Amino acid sequence: KLDFAGRIAQRLGAPVREETVHAVDNVDLTIRKGEVVGLVGESGCGKSTLGRMVAGILPPSDGTILRDGIDVLSLSAAEAREINLRTQMIFQDPYASLNPRMRVADIVGEAPLVHGLVTRAGYDAYVDEQMRRAGLDPAFKRRYPHQFSGGQRQRIGIARALAVKPDFIVCDEAVAALDVSIQAQILNLFMRLRTELDLTYLFISHDLGVVEHLSDRVVIMYLGRVVEEAPAETVFARPNHPYTQSLLASVPRIESRKRAFSVVKGEIPSPLNPPSGCHFHPRCPHAMERCKLEKPVLKEVAPGQRSACHLNDAA
Ligand code: SF4
Ligand code: MG
Repeated sequence: KLDFAGRIAQRLGAPVREETVHAVDNVDLTIRKGEVVGLVGESGCGKSTLGRMVAGILPPSDGTILRDGIDVLSLSAAEAREINLRTQMIFQDPYASLNPRMRVADIVGEAPLVHGLVTRAGYDAYVDEQMRRAGLDPAFKRRYPHQFSGGQRQRIGIARALAVKPDFIVCDEAVAALDVSIQAQILNLFMRLRTELDLTYLFISHDLGVVEHLSDRVVIMYLGRVVEEAPAETVFARPNHPYTQSLLASVPRIESRKRAFSVVKGEIPSPLNPPSGCHFHPRCPHAMERCKLEKPVLKEVAPGQRSACHLNDAA
């Protein structure tokens, strides 16, 4: 059983490389084996931070991360490495993480060789298999990343991730940089691989339209907090939280989709100094006095659907 559960709290933001680690405040996220969970929110809501914590790349300042019931933060470095290998992350820009001086065969085959998942003798066949599975022609395995298109580079990133036999994939805006037609191809690949390899996914996107087609469950974040969580059909049919409703209202049909970052009206406040009470109150069309003062907590509003909004108490 693969199970992530725990309270993850990251109260202060700190710069990591050029990016900012956004605050994640008392998030409780459980991902069941075989599930695809879509994690959605605007830029700066903390979804990438949460994804990195779940993937074991970024330790939370406070909280626990359970993998198959084991507290990964309590493991030795060697044990943690082994468990983290089973979780792979796929990012928006695979090019940034593909060594430009390495041939595709080595990009895909290096980690499995290092970790003893394949022998020298079986290496070539193993690399071919990984490439084929990601929809790449092994005939091109002597080529370098720059000789591939954006979509193909994402396939190289996927082949590399899968080559270490993970059972859990965290995709962070994995299709955001691709043209819409290529997006659909890569999303279909993810879904095919899910069945073929029995994968579990955390699919992070700013775009509700992207997660609609592949998620079993959707988690909506706003400024470091989960504001709504529900089965995908419920989120799209009966969104409860005003933030989810406004995100949904601005999702055009996939065919005509343009990439728009801020879709809800109003500026996104700084995640490091969020508004009091309900973080969404300055942008919420239903805000009441209470919303400025009191933090709403997640409550079940329908079977499997939880929402953090004071309107649910008034009703
Ligand atoms: Fe809007 Fe208040 Fe609900 Fe927050 S708690 S979403 S401000 S109605
Ligand atoms: Mg991000």
